[in-house]
Amino acid sequence: MTWVELPDGTGFGIDNLPLGVVLGGGRPGIRHAVRIGDSVLDLHGVTGLPVHATRTLDSFLVAGPDAWRDLREQVTEWLTDERHRARVEPHLLPLAAVQALRPIGVADYVDFYSSRAHAENVGRLFRPDGDPLPPNWLHLPIGYHGRAGTVQVSGAPVVRPCGQIGPPGDDGLPPFGPTRRLDLEAELGFVVGAPSEPGERVPVEAFGEHVFGVCLVNDWSARDLQAWEYQPLGPFLGKSFATSMSPWIVPLAALEAARVPPPPRDAALLPYLRDDAAPWGLDVELEVRINGEVVSRPPFRDMYWTAAQQLAHLTVNGAPVLAGELFASGTVSGAAREQWGSLLELTANGTRPLPLADGSTRAFLEDGDTVCITASAPGPHGARIGFGEVTGRVLPAR
Ligand code: CA
Repeated sequence: MTWVELPDGTGFGIDNLPLGVVLGGGRPGIRHAVRIGDSVLDLHGVTGLPVHATRTLDSFLVAGPDAWRDLREQVTEWLTDERHRARVEPHLLPLAAVQALRPIGVADYVDFYSSRAHAENVGRLFRPDGDPLPPNWLHLPIGYHGRAGTVQVSGAPVVRPCGQIGPPGDDGLPPFGPTRRLDLEAELGFVVGAPSEPGERVPVEAFGEHVFGVCLVNDWSARDLQAWEYQPLGPFLGKSFATSMSPWIVPLAALEAARVPPPPRDAALLPYLRDDAAPWGLDVELEVRINGEVVSRPPFRDMYWTAAQQLAHLTVNGAPVLAGELFASGTVSGAAREQWGSLLELTANGTRPLPLADGSTRAFLEDGDTVCITASAPGPHGARIGFGEVTGRVLPAR
């Protein structure tokens, strides 16, 4: 039990302790912080360590899993043992008084495509006469290299992107303008803390030695730009204008009770992708809201490829991972319609607009729309582990 007063039903009890980076709260400069309930613990204030007054968590995360474990144990002791209260409590700041910044440097960014339901839904929409899954899908976690520099923290707005929105018309020129098919993708993101060496593979069993924790991701997508540009090298400008992440990184250590076996695999796996000894399915329940209304509840536990397999795959050629790197799961979709994690799927590529409670409909996102993705997972002793939210509002094209 913690001595910190917690709101009923908080997902940020003593078993969670996510890390973030904050500004304000009456403290000078930037501080690493731990969220507990509706408060944040100023780690620089309470430890005096310069590493906790840097712009991102990267400077701390690079120290590796022993350092992560030591900090977690220390913070747990401070917040549960009354003997520490007088010294620690002055460094608790109200969550509402601080601004949560993008918590990592995003040294690199990769996005995967690991929900079978999502891949099949997309395949049926774009290749109605073929196999919904591409021939490689059951053999490797497909990914593409995203644009690290446009990963932004929750709350930052998204300007509707412009670009080539289709093949040439009668004038021989591709139509150009603001996207007419702006979409969301509900995903989880995985934050690498401890780097690997060039040439080194990170096996699935070593996932927890490199990945610190998990956040929420909205991979904003311009479907018309994407459809015109994506062959043969994959998504580019249809994705790279903005990707939003939640500010509080939930440690893997808080997700032990959420671990579940991944779904059965329908094709034999190469040894480097076999995960019987390190199954990292996660029972995380997501919710997607448009202007406050829930439009989908994607279940992460149904993801075919786990983050441990994704990390093993992205390093199998010897590519190193870096401290503060982010990789995302791909759109999370379950089998049922109300579990689909993008408007592309929910509206059948805009052909069946989604009715909203205010009487309006959405084929795709409109200017002024706010998208909010939240999630929670089982914790120890019946508690819930919260992930907070990733939110963004759509602004008109410039
Ligand atoms: Ca995506």
